[in-house]
Amino acid sequence: MEKPHNNNRTRLEEERAQAEALFSSLGDGAIATDQFGKITRINSVALELLGYSASELIGEWFPRRIIALTEKGAPINLIDRPITQAFLTGKPVNEKTFYQTKDGHRLPVSISVSPILLANKPLGAIEVFRDITLEEEIDRMKSEFISLASHQLRTPLSAIKTYSHMLADGYMGDVTAPQKKSLRTIISATNRMNELISTLLNITRIESGTIAITPKILQLDKAAEEVIKDLSLAASEKSIRLTLKKIGQTSTRVKTDNLIVKEVISNLISNAIKYTSDEGTVRVEVRGRARDVIVGVHDNGWGIPASAHDQVFSKFFRATNIVKRETTGTGLGLYLVKGLLDRLGGTIWFESVEGKGTTFYFTLPKAAAKVRLKV
Ligand code: ADP
Repeated sequence: MEKPHNNNRTRLEEERAQAEALFSSLGDGAIATDQFGKITRINSVALELLGYSASELIGEWFPRRIIALTEKGAPINLIDRPITQAFLTGKPVNEKTFYQTKDGHRLPVSISVSPILLANKPLGAIEVFRDITLEEEIDRMKSEFISLASHQLRTPLSAIKTYSHMLADGYMGDVTAPQKKSLRTIISATNRMNELISTLLNITRIESGTIAITPKILQLDKAAEEVIKDLSLAASEKSIRLTLKKIGQTSTRVKTDNLIVKEVISNLISNAIKYTSDEGTVRVEVRGRARDVIVGVHDNGWGIPASAHDQVFSKFFRATNIVKRETTGTGLGLYLVKGLLDRLGGTIWFESVEGKGTTFYFTLPKAAAKVRLKV
C-alpha cells in the first residue's frame, strides 16, 4: 500500500515542478489566481512588465492590484475585465487592453485568460499577457501613412478626372470616337482609384477607432433603393436583373449612420453584380423584424468555394474561382463591411454554393448602436 502512495506523491511533485518551470520560463507575463481572484503565482516577465516585486502582488486581489485601462486612460469596470468574464462564462477570453504599471505608465497588452475548471467549478484562472507596444506603434504608423498617402492622392486624381471629363465632353475641341473611348477608360479607372482610396481611408478609420458615426432614423429599404439607383448602370451593362423587395409589414426603420449603411449595401450589391455572369439576377430583400432589420443580397453567380468560407471577411481575401475570372479587386470590401457593421452594432453572414450563387445577409438593431470603446 505504501508504494503506490509514494509513487503518486512523487508524480504529483514532479507535475507541480514541471508546471512551475513552465510558468517561470514563459516568454510572456503569466499570473495565476485562486477561485476568488487572489494572485497565487506570478512569473518574472509579468513582474518586469508591471514594475512590481512578487511580494507586492502575491495574495492580492488581481483586479484591484492590476489596473486595466481603456484607450483614453479610464479604469475598466470590474464586470468588463477579461478575468471576470472568464470566471463568469467559464471560457477563455482574449483581448487587447492597457495595464497600469507601478510607475503609472500605460502599457498596451494582449491578454489571454483561461479559467481553471474542475467539474465545471472554477478553481482559479491563469492569465498570460504580452507587451504589444511595438505592434501598436507599427500599426499606428501604417495607418498614418495610408491616411496621408490617400489624402495626397485624392487631389491629383480629381484633376485627372475633371480634365478627362472636359476633354471627353468636347469642351476643348472635337474628339474622335477612339479618343473618346480612351477618355472613358481613364475616367472609369480614376473612379475605381477613388473608390479604393475611400476604402483605404475607411479601413484606417475603423482600425484606429476614429470613424465618426452620425445616427439618424432611416428606412433601410429606402436606403437600399437609393444604392440600387446608383448601381443600376453597372447592372445593366451586364444585363443583370437587379430588384428590390420589402418583405412583410414590419417597419424597416433603424437609427443608424446613413452614409455607412449605404457603403455596406453598395459593397454587397457591387460584389453580387461583379461576381455573377451576364444576364444573371441580383435580388435585394429587406425585412423588418421585432428588434432588427435584416437585409439579404441574393445572386445566382459564381459562388464562394466551401474551402474558403472561413476566410471571406479577412483582409485581402479573394477566392481562387474569382481571381481566375476577375482581375480587378482588392479583397478589402468585405473586411471593411464587417468592420463597419461591427461599429453599427450589426451582424453579417452568408450562404454560398460554388457555381450556384451567394446570399449575404446583414442585420442592424432597431435601437441605436451603443458607442463602443476600443480598448
Ligand atoms: P474584392 O471584391 O475587391 O475582391 P471583397 O472583400 O469585396 O473584395 O470580396 C472578397 C472576395 O469574396 C471576392 O474576391 C470574392 O472571391 C468573394 N465574394 C464576395 N462577394 C461575392 C459574391 N457575391 N459572389 C461570389 N464571391 C464573392
